[in-house]
Amino acid sequence: MLIVQKYGGTSVGSIERIKAVADRVSNTKKQGNDVVVIVSAMSGETDKLIGLANQISAEPDGREMDLLLSSGERISAALTAIAISELGFKSMSFTGRQTGIITDEAHTKAKIEYISGERIKKAIKKGIIPVIAGFQGVTETSDVTTLGRGGSDLSAVAVAAALKADLCEIYTDVDGVYTTDPNIVPDARKLDKISYDEMLELASLGAKVLQTRSVEFAKKYNVPVVVRSSFNNNPGTLVVKEDKDMEKVVVSGVAYDKNQAKITAIAVHDKPGVAAMLFKAIADANIVVDMIVQNISSDGKSTDISFTVPKTDSRKALKITEEIVSEIGAKEVKLREDIAKISIVGVGMRTHSGVAATMFDTLAKHNINIMMISTSEIKISCIIDVKYTELAVRVLHEAFGLSKNVKTKSKKKL
Ligand code: ASP
Ligand code: MG
Repeated sequence: MLIVQKYGGTSVGSIERIKAVADRVSNTKKQGNDVVVIVSAMSGETDKLIGLANQISAEPDGREMDLLLSSGERISAALTAIAISELGFKSMSFTGRQTGIITDEAHTKAKIEYISGERIKKAIKKGIIPVIAGFQGVTETSDVTTLGRGGSDLSAVAVAAALKADLCEIYTDVDGVYTTDPNIVPDARKLDKISYDEMLELASLGAKVLQTRSVEFAKKYNVPVVVRSSFNNNPGTLVVKEDKDMEKVVVSGVAYDKNQAKITAIAVHDKPGVAAMLFKAIADANIVVDMIVQNISSDGKSTDISFTVPKTDSRKALKITEEIVSEIGAKEVKLREDIAKISIVGVGMRTHSGVAATMFDTLAKHNINIMMISTSEIKISCIIDVKYTELAVRVLHEAFGLSKNVKTKSKKKL
């Protein structure tokens, strides 16, 4: 088998950890596999480099940031190659450029255009274990780029796709993907298997185990991904194409996101073009809107529009909305930052009815008011008061039978 193994920041966080990585890599090789390693920067390193730049400039140039930030992964790649060689295996480190990872020119958030992987393929043929610096690529004109925070997951999946690897293992400091945050629900279960689509929803809802773009990529190129811990030998969670078994489970996970803010424009004109004008102004400022709710107007003249944006953009979005208040006829604009988005995710929702009703009923029983609702084929999200976040996660996790050992009981309930 050809196995791509990606090690995150904590997995290469110290010399000791790097030696442990070298052990695991060499064991995988000893078992008769070809191994390609991708590494993140040592934990904290990327933040440290950003901090250094920010001591000089509040908005440092993207091109310079990319050269700076790419150095974190180069250090861990070289150290890891040294550690593997020390165990008696041939190993060589490669930068993004040496790997042939060509990207567009969007510095600090570049997109991969293609991967040649020539030198990596040659190294594998010679029995060498390549260690690739994650998170980075190079433009056609030879400028170093980085792929956005958490981007070494994407490097790993993209290299796995380019090399047609049999498996892409993502090593981190947790055992895999859980039914929900174990800090809130101690008996949350680790999932053995999850579909790309579910993982995509969970990742974009803030489950930090995998970078969202890497999951999109894995889905597109059908790369089987395993998320597992580099601190033990537990099997982890397999992220793969949806299969029949997955449909039997109605809800796979409960996610929450406290990083949202809600803006409401009260009594805007109920006429064509109002929503278009508002959301064009928001989009022009590069702010991503998540949920939108527009009430039916009772008098036929005015209506309320509410929408959510990331908390980091809330002040900017508020200002933009206030600026066009008179044009859209709003009486008032309100911002609420004390909200949370609670979501349930599962491909089984497509074939099971009553899932939304169970969710709303469960929240109602605990007196949790729902401010906004949005649904997709495999997800239902509700905006609630942030102070009920933990309670909502716990009761939904229970209601959908996600806790350990309660599977059969809960199936009856549904
Ligand atoms: N070191 C980069 C970051 O912290 C990339 C990564 O670790 O995936 O975002
Ligand atoms: Mg990461």
